[in-house]
Amino acid sequence: MIERICPKCRVPMAGDKCIKPNCGRATEMSSTIYWCKECNVPIFENICPVCGHEGDYIATDIRPVFPEENCLISIILKNDPFAFQKYSVWYGSNAYIINGKKVKLAISKINKLRIDEIKNIKQKYEAVAGDISYEFFDEYKNKFVEANKDRYNFITEEAVSFVQSYKERYEIEDMMVSFSGGKDSTVTSHIVNRALGTNKVLHVFGDTTLEFPYTLEYKKRFNKNEESSGVRVLTAKNREKNFEELCEVVGPPSRVMRWCCTVFKTGAIQKTIASAFKDKNNILSFQGIRHNESASRSKYERESESPKISKQTVASPIIEWIDFDVWLYLLTTGIDFNYAYRLGWTRVGCWCCPNNGGWSEFLSKVHMFDQYNHWHEQLVNFAKQIGKPDPEDYVNEGGWKARQGGNGLAAAQTSIVSFEPCATDENAFNYDLQRPITEELYELFKPFGYINKELGNKRLGEVYVLNKAGKVVLVLQGRIGSTRLKVIIKDVHIAKARTLSVAESKIQCQLTKYQMCLGCKACESVCKYDAISVKDDGTGKITYTIDNDKCKRCTECVGHFNAGCYMRKVLGIKRT
Ligand code: SF4
Ligand code: SF4
Ligand code: SF4
Ligand SMILES: [Zn+2]
Ligand SMILES: [Zn+2]
Repeated sequence: MIERICPKCRVPMAGDKCIKPNCGRATEMSSTIYWCKECNVPIFENICPVCGHEGDYIATDIRPVFPEENCLISIILKNDPFAFQKYSVWYGSNAYIINGKKVKLAISKINKLRIDEIKNIKQKYEAVAGDISYEFFDEYKNKFVEANKDRYNFITEEAVSFVQSYKERYEIEDMMVSFSGGKDSTVTSHIVNRALGTNKVLHVFGDTTLEFPYTLEYKKRFNKNEESSGVRVLTAKNREKNFEELCEVVGPPSRVMRWCCTVFKTGAIQKTIASAFKDKNNILSFQGIRHNESASRSKYERESESPKISKQTVASPIIEWIDFDVWLYLLTTGIDFNYAYRLGWTRVGCWCCPNNGGWSEFLSKVHMFDQYNHWHEQLVNFAKQIGKPDPEDYVNEGGWKARQGGNGLAAAQTSIVSFEPCATDENAFNYDLQRPITEELYELFKPFGYINKELGNKRLGEVYVLNKAGKVVLVLQGRIGSTRLKVIIKDVHIAKARTLSVAESKIQCQLTKYQMCLGCKACESVCKYDAISVKDDGTGKITYTIDNDKCKRCTECVGHFNAGCYMRKVLGIKRT
């Protein structure tokens, strides 16, 4: 049900305040799940519609535990792979719920197991994996579906009519489904196809290159399914960059600096959408966002304008659904879903994400043993590189996940721009570049105006930047091949600056890009006019170009990401 519960005691309460002795906390609205002892399954209402018995409150939300995960926890808890095979097993409120009884599994403890102990568990699992049966699971699943029919009908009808309400405002060709291969987008896709009665809505799949193998397999199966047959799935992927190589340069992603999302997800998806919907003014994107997924997501509205992608309206049909609802939908309809959930993963983002929980990490160790060890080794090497005294501990205790900046990394040095003000002209600055001047330097001055290589003194390597009216705003002095660059600011109003020092800082932003661009492509996504192109030829040579005709001189790209470069932000270098 949806009712009031005490946030501390975690039990349903009728009134505004908890009535337990010594508590008295204000109660909050929450979802509550009950357990029918008779049917041995979770129910959404407190009276079981099948047997008429009153259920016991069990959790605020719940998910099924499939026979594969059941087998694994049986090995861990009972050293008998089939100990719980005949039982009704679920997970909710931080515990396994086995035939209605809560059983805790100390995740922090199992995550401290040594590699040989993990291997042992893995071997035990694999020895019996072929004998895992769905016989008992299916029996409980059918009861669960039967006992929660009303809830299923209610949430489904509501979501379907929400999707249908867009029919009048958008053409099918202007709609898309953002598809991750996870359960929420699987359900969203199914509801959209159902509500609109078509398989013509384009699906965009973002491949971060760090996907679970199960996700890629599921994606392959996806449009061969009966339910989604013929659906067009476009894959968005950054094919130029390699995650491991970038980790070596800027360090692994951490909880506060999830740079791979920017490099491997946002940009690639945005580009794919832009080219698939080239001539469209406003597109509608259905997404599987849900409030109870994470605290940050609880701020989302059901319909919103995408903050990252221009002219995109995001609609979230299942925004209020809890895990229980998503599983109820999947189990009732019987549609195919990602195998990772059967193994016990609760989310299927990137398998090595610093945001993954302990259980997810443990599952990666067991089911992706080789990849996990390779990643572990990389992390240890990184820890050594940045001079951690105890690299193994740093990695095992999750220190890498809390990392803030690029201390100890060589790349951090290239983000520093050093200069001296000119002794005779207060509007002139002498820069010591870490990368010799090439023609590419001038690309980065295009946002400030129009490059003119004719007017200046060629012997001095002078290049002018003119404004629209043809007036000089900047003079660049520095010969090709040299590392000395003098910039004379003729007009401080470049990039909306009002003072000389602000104007100078805008120049530093562009010089930072020139010196340290790692080809992450984040700049490409910043330009609304598609004028920026960052290419990595695969040998490490990166070219940053700004299309003179497309560039509107809006200067949005200049100071974006604080100091002009996202990778500089990742490396966490303080401004000098
Ligand atoms: S590993 Fe985490 S931070 Fe990196 S792309 Fe994947 S989800 Fe984003
Ligand atoms: S300059 Fe732009 S594309 Fe290059 S690394 Fe920095 S943010 Fe990425
Ligand atoms: S954001 Fe695009 S249009 Fe604006 S100045 Fe930069 S390159 Fe030019
Ligand atoms: Zn209480
Ligand atoms: Zn019952």
